[in-house]
Amino acid sequence: MSQSIADMGEFGLIEFLRCRMPVGKKVIRGIGDDAAVLELSAREYLLLTTDMLVEGVHFRPATSGQRIGHKALACNISDIAAMGGVPTYAVVSIGLNPRTDTRFVRDIYDGMNLLARRFKVCIVGGDTVRSPRTVINVALLGKVEKKKLVTRAGARPGDRIFVSGKLGRSFPSGRHLSFLPRLNEARFLLEHVKPTAMIDISDGLAGDLGHILKASRAGAVLEEDRIPRHPGATLNHALYDGEDFELLFTLRPSDAKRFLSSRVKFKFYEIGRVTAARDGLQILTAAGRKSAVLGKSFSHF
Ligand code: ADP
Ligand code: MG
Repeated sequence: MSQSIADMGEFGLIEFLRCRMPVGKKVIRGIGDDAAVLELSAREYLLLTTDMLVEGVHFRPATSGQRIGHKALACNISDIAAMGGVPTYAVVSIGLNPRTDTRFVRDIYDGMNLLARRFKVCIVGGDTVRSPRTVINVALLGKVEKKKLVTRAGARPGDRIFVSGKLGRSFPSGRHLSFLPRLNEARFLLEHVKPTAMIDISDGLAGDLGHILKASRAGAVLEEDRIPRHPGATLNHALYDGEDFELLFTLRPSDAKRFLSSRVKFKFYEIGRVTAARDGLQILTAAGRKSAVLGKSFSHF
């Protein structure tokens, strides 16, 4: 019986593809984290990630080229940051309608280059094709000292859960196009403490914490009162809106204590703790009741 990709869902489709991918010897982590982790040298791993933006799905036809270019690179830098690494080289592929004004293309690259300079990324190539709608794909390399690599797996019961900034309403506010990836925050964190797990929030807090919990075989309790929200964002916005691009990470309790008592250059919010897998994902409401959080997250299909 045939099944459409809409029936399968985005994550079902990725799982379906994962079973068909050969795994190489020097692949430390393939599908299933924010970036692939590959052997590089005795001291470092190579990181590789890619993200694609499509007109009508990720941005509107009227969105400025600068914002599109900025976002196309920013979401990839965010994935490298979430592994504890630093970005290095990128290739950029664009699909353009032949009637596109060249100024729009120039603006895309202006937006991308500004961010590339800021985070010391070097754009070294790409591909250009005809397409009925604007499409832009960035593939980004990065590297990470082996001892600083942080994956989604490794959170343990008792660990404290943190987020690097306020959540919710990224789309209506336009933040999903203009956010700065939390690279400096991640590197600062790693200078002081080693998170047990980390991810960047692209699919919503509930969904992305769900990815950490699944990879770590753990559960969690979030505290409603402690989840930082942007003005106008409800708890549901904070839990389920996608594209906040904040870091979500877990620290061992002793590390959390030590880290919070040191001089912290950035604001990190403690929002809950990791529990046993059988608890699933729960929320302690402001009224003091515990209830299950639906594990739903943004899915393309
Ligand atoms: P993120 O939100 O961090 O960019 P995704 O949810 O897009 O991550 O992807 C989850 C995982 O699935 C990643 O490891 C990614 O490399 C992998 N993945 C996504 N799409 C594909 C695909 N078409 N083929 C192979 N792997 C994929
Ligand atoms: Mg990610």
